[in-house]
Order: sequence, then C-alpha cells, then structure tokens
Amino acid sequence: MDFCGIQKISLVDFDTELTCTLFSKGCNLRCPFCHNFELVLYDKDKEKLIPFKEILDYLEEKKKFLTAVCITGGEPTLMPDLAEKITAIKSLGYKVKLDTNGFMPDVMIDLINRHLIDYVAVDIKNSKELYAKTTGVMSLDLSGINKTVEYLISHDFPYEFRTTIIDEFHSDYSMEMMGKWLNGAKIIFLQHFELSSNVPDQTLHAVPTKNALVFRRILEKYIQKVELRGF
Ligand code: SF4
Repeated sequence: MDFCGIQKISLVDFDTELTCTLFSKGCNLRCPFCHNFELVLYDKDKEKLIPFKEILDYLEEKKKFLTAVCITGGEPTLMPDLAEKITAIKSLGYKVKLDTNGFMPDVMIDLINRHLIDYVAVDIKNSKELYAKTTGVMSLDLSGINKTVEYLISHDFPYEFRTTIIDEFHSDYSMEMMGKWLNGAKIIFLQHFELSSNVPDQTLHAVPTKNALVFRRILEKYIQKVELRGF
C-alpha cells in the first residue's frame, strides 16, 4: 500500500529536524474532532496514491538537506507493508518518527525492536471511560492502547503522549482519570483544538487556556512533564 500524501518540508512535525511528512490513508477510529478526516476513509479502488518510488526518489535527492521523515495518517500502523517502506527510508539515512493512535501496539513494538523508528507520538484521546465517546467508536477494545501505554512507560524509548483537548469531551475529572492511567509517563502534550472546515463535528469547542492550565496541574501529579501545545 502506498502513501496518499506528502508534505515535502516541515519544521514542526519532529522536534528541530527538517522533516518530510508522509500521510497514510485509512483509520480504525472516527474522532469527531479529526483534522485529517479526508484521510480516515479508505477505498482501495478509488484512492490516488503516490507511487513509493517517487517518494524514495525525492528523499534520495534531498538527503543532504532533510534529516527526518514523519509518518502520519490516517493511521499508519494499518499499512501492511509499513516496515518494508520504513526500511527503504532508513536505508537513505533518515531518522523516522511515527504518529499513531496506539491501537496496534505489536506493529509499533516490532518497528522499535528492529530499530526502524527513532521516536513515536501516541494520541491519548481521553480517560479510558470516555475513549469510545471521544473516538466515535462505541464498541472499542482498549487492550491495544493499554498495551502501547504500558510498553512505552516501562521501556527506554523516546516517545510523547499527546491529547487534543476539547471542551465537550475533557474535564478536570477526565484528566484526573487519564493521569491515573498514565501514571509514571515521561511527557504529555495537551494540544489546542482548532475548528477547521473539515472537522466532522462543527459544534465542538476549544478548551479555554485557563482550563488547560488546570488540566496541566492535574496531570502533573502523575506525569513527569506536561506541556501545552498551540495555546
Ligand atoms: S485517530 Fe487520528 S486520523 Fe484517526 S480519526 Fe482520530 S484523529 Fe483522525
């Protein structure tokens, strides 16, 4: 399966790296606040995908200039040949960051064990109790995200957790419950929500900064570093 989009240069997707970002198509969740909802649904007969050779040619040409590749989506861990594709990218000398919703821990752990990724950013949508409502999938099995959380907290691999906070879904109580779940984690970013025209639920609202600061204080009881992003 090929990628469906490419942002040729990004300065914001992977720390201070000069990054090329690749987008996969398809996702197992239906978050009402998703900014990439056009990437969520996947119809293999209709998609215009970018031949991987074109991407590799670009990365080969720019390898003295770019330093990293960010793989995002959609949900990239659903790509059956993800490891194969990252192997080809790695062979050009790039660092690789994976963005994931954490529901396919075995894919992530395999990539880590094979030294195919250098960093992983995992979405934590909410406390476990509110996960189904927040992701728009009512019968949700949380064992995958649970395993991802437990693995990253107990291993020495560079990661971040990140939560886009929404007034309708997040509260002091849900932060307390989320903090208890993520107890001992290294870092979490609380991300500002922007309502853009492709967000599926147009009735949602951003969390005011003063409330986000309260959320941060709650999470600081459990997580070593809590940062606000985009506020
Ligand atoms: S997990 Fe990410 S890509 Fe999938 S629906 Fe949620 S926000 Fe969108």
